[in-house]
Amino acid sequence: MSLKSICIFVLLTVIGLSAAAPHFDLYFHPRTMRLDYIHSGTGTTESFSFDDVYEESVWAGPVTRLIDDSNLGKYLFQVFDERTGTLIYSRGFCSIFGEWQTTEEAQKINRSFSESIRFPWPRAGVKVTISTRNRENQFIEIWSVSLNPGEVNYRRNGTYSNVPVTPLFISGDIRNKIDIVILPDGYTKDQMKKFHQDAKRLVKTLFSTEPFLSGRDQFNVRCVDLPSNEEGIDDPQKTIYRDNALACSYNAFGSDRYILTYDNKTLRKIAARVPYEHVCILVNAQKYGGGGIFNLYTTCISDNEWSDYIFVHEFGHSFGGLGDEYYTSDVAYSEFYPQDVEPWEPNLTICTDPDRVKWREMIEPGTPVPTPWGKAEYDARQTAYMQNRKELKANKAPLSEIDRIRDENDRWIHDFLRNQPYWGKTGVYEGAGYASSGLFRPYIDCRMFSRSLTGFDPVCSRAIGRMIELYTE
Ligand SMILES: [Zn+2]
Repeated sequence: MSLKSICIFVLLTVIGLSAAAPHFDLYFHPRTMRLDYIHSGTGTTESFSFDDVYEESVWAGPVTRLIDDSNLGKYLFQVFDERTGTLIYSRGFCSIFGEWQTTEEAQKINRSFSESIRFPWPRAGVKVTISTRNRENQFIEIWSVSLNPGEVNYRRNGTYSNVPVTPLFISGDIRNKIDIVILPDGYTKDQMKKFHQDAKRLVKTLFSTEPFLSGRDQFNVRCVDLPSNEEGIDDPQKTIYRDNALACSYNAFGSDRYILTYDNKTLRKIAARVPYEHVCILVNAQKYGGGGIFNLYTTCISDNEWSDYIFVHEFGHSFGGLGDEYYTSDVAYSEFYPQDVEPWEPNLTICTDPDRVKWREMIEPGTPVPTPWGKAEYDARQTAYMQNRKELKANKAPLSEIDRIRDENDRWIHDFLRNQPYWGKTGVYEGAGYASSGLFRPYIDCRMFSRSLTGFDPVCSRAIGRMIELYTE
C-alpha cells in the first residue's frame, strides 16, 4: 500500500467506527462486569482462552459515550447485545502481550499473560469480541465469547474490604467523572504516610500540566492503602528481590528501567476496592523507572529526581494512548513500528503529505513538511554524548560525573530545540517512535520527546482532551 493510500485509509477507518449511542439503562445495570482471559502466543501468533467473570462494585465508567470512536489502541473489545446484535459498549486498549510480541523473546518461546476487560453489567446475554489490527490498520476480530449475566458461577471479586481507602480529591459523581485509583507497591505498613505524600506530589504535578490542569475538575483520585511485606520492588539486574504486594519489577522485557507487573489478578482485586477507570501504580523506589500501557496502567517510581517527569509522561501513554516521540534511547523492541504501517497513536505518523497527515488542520500554511529542526546537528551531538557516557561507564567514572554530563546534555537539548526556526509550530518532524527516520512527530519538543519538563505538544494535548471528553460527556 502506498503512503498516500495509507493516509486515506486511516481517515476512513475513523469515520467507519462512529455509531449511534446506545442508551445505558436499556442495556446495563450500574455495576461492573470483569472478564478475565489468558492471552497467549508467539511473535506472530496469538490466542485467547476464557478464564473467569467477576462482578465488581458500582460502574464508574462512562454512561453516555458507550462506544469508543477514538480509534486508538492495538486492540478493541466490543460488547454486543446477543439478541439484537446491537453494539452496546466498546473500548480500545493495549496489553503487555501486545508489547511482548515485539521482543526477541517472542521469536523463541510461547508465553501467556492474564488480562481483563471491564464493562457495565449487561441486563441480557452479550457477545464480547476482541479485535486486533492487521498491517493495514483494520481491526480484525480474533476472539469472541458469549456471556449470560444470570450465570450463577460468576464470581464476586473479594476486594480487600479491610484495606483503607484515602481519597486525594473528589470532583463529583463517579458516573460523570474520570476515576483514577493510585495503588502503592513496595510500601510497608509503616510507610503509608510516605505513600500519601508521594501520591499527592505526583498527582499535583500531573494536574499542573495542561490539559490536565484545565480538566482537573473532571477527575476523582483515590488511593488504596495496601501495604507490602517488604520495601521496594524486584530489581533483577542487581539480583534484588522483594516481597512486594503488586509484584512490580524493573527490567521488564530486559529493559532495565521498564517497570511492569504481570500479576493482573492481584492488581484487579486491589483496584476493585474503589470505583475506578484508570490505574496508577506508585512504586516505592529510587532507581529511574516506569511504564505506561494504554488503558492498562501507569507505573512510576517515587523517589527519583525524574519522578515528576516520568509520572506525567507515562500517564500520557496509559490515559491518552500517546506514543513515544523520542528515538535515541535503547529499547528492547525489535520492530515496534513497522515503517510501512501508519501508527494508530495520535502523535506519530509515517505520512508526510501535509494535506493528509492526521494533525493536518493544526499545521499553519507555509510550514514546510517534513519540517526542518536541526536534526543532523542534534543526532551528531547525541551520538557523541552516548559515546562519552559509554566510555565514562566503562572506565568506572563516579556517578556524579555521569550525572553531570547527562544534565549538561539535557540543557543543551532544551536550548537547541528552542532555537530552531519552527519552534512553536506544529509540523511533521522526522525522528519519533524509536526510529531516527521514516517516523514523524508533530512538534519539536514534547513531554513524550525529551526529558525537559516541557508540557504536552498541541497534538498530544488535543488527544488527551478528546479522551477526557470520551469519559465525561
Ligand atoms: Zn514513553
